Amino acid sequence: MTAEREHSIEALTGGAMAGIWEWVRQRIPAGVEVFDAHAHIGADIDGRTMTAEGMRARMEAAGVKRAIVFPLNDPNARDDYSGPNDVIWNAYEEYPDLFVPFFRLNPHRDYEAEFGRCVGRGFMGLKLHPVSQHFELDDPRVVCLFEMAAEADLPVLIHAGFAMQRIVEPLVPTVEAYPRLRLILGHSAMIEVLEAARAFEGHPNVLFETSVVRAKDLYVLFSSLDPSRICYGSDIPYGDLPSTLHATLAAAEAAGVPEAALPGILSGNIRRWF
Ligand SMILES: [Zn+2]
Repeated sequence: MTAEREHSIEALTGGAMAGIWEWVRQRIPAGVEVFDAHAHIGADIDGRTMTAEGMRARMEAAGVKRAIVFPLNDPNARDDYSGPNDVIWNAYEEYPDLFVPFFRLNPHRDYEAEFGRCVGRGFMGLKLHPVSQHFELDDPRVVCLFEMAAEADLPVLIHAGFAMQRIVEPLVPTVEAYPRLRLILGHSAMIEVLEAARAFEGHPNVLFETSVVRAKDLYVLFSSLDPSRICYGSDIPYGDLPSTLHATLAAAEAAGVPEAALPGILSGNIRRWF
């Protein structure tokens, strides 16, 4: 446990990072309960792992109160993702006040049973990763999933970041067909950030999540979109809480986002969904 903490927050907030972390802490308005809209628990084929306890320790050390958690691109995922989804549910049962559980699916497989099982169990959202699971956002099987999520009133977080080719154009028909569908664009559609901001600015149920976005794209995001549509995320274990909080707050400040908008970005804009 001590070693876990040394490798997590203290190594990231001490030494040369101490001043940056201090700046972050001063920027977070008093009373704001920071909500991380993008984090993973489990194991990935690339070797990354995160445990519920590791996530809890990082959140406690950084003063983050709640986090949406979902599986990685798990090497042991059965076709329907039920094993990694169970890991998330166990984490939620252990720490129900900390974690907001999302389940993950592979649209190429029969997903209806696992969708029904997870919704029935009480999962609060769905995560889809077009790159890891090799699909386009306008694939009919994926559009069917969006329709099922809209009917179940289930938020969907889409990986909309690195290695994506098409985001806005294949997603527009779904957003227009299901205006009540709540979507979180993971990594803020960073390769098409300006196009996405313009295409979805009139759709209040589409949120842009800030983890692991290039600095110039975060600046464009904060400069071009109402801050009520932006939510903070870490993408743990790919990002970490100190550096992603710093990136988000620094970009907001550089773009001239008023301080009054920070509680929403750090917490309220996503918290109102759960
Ligand atoms: Zn992620």
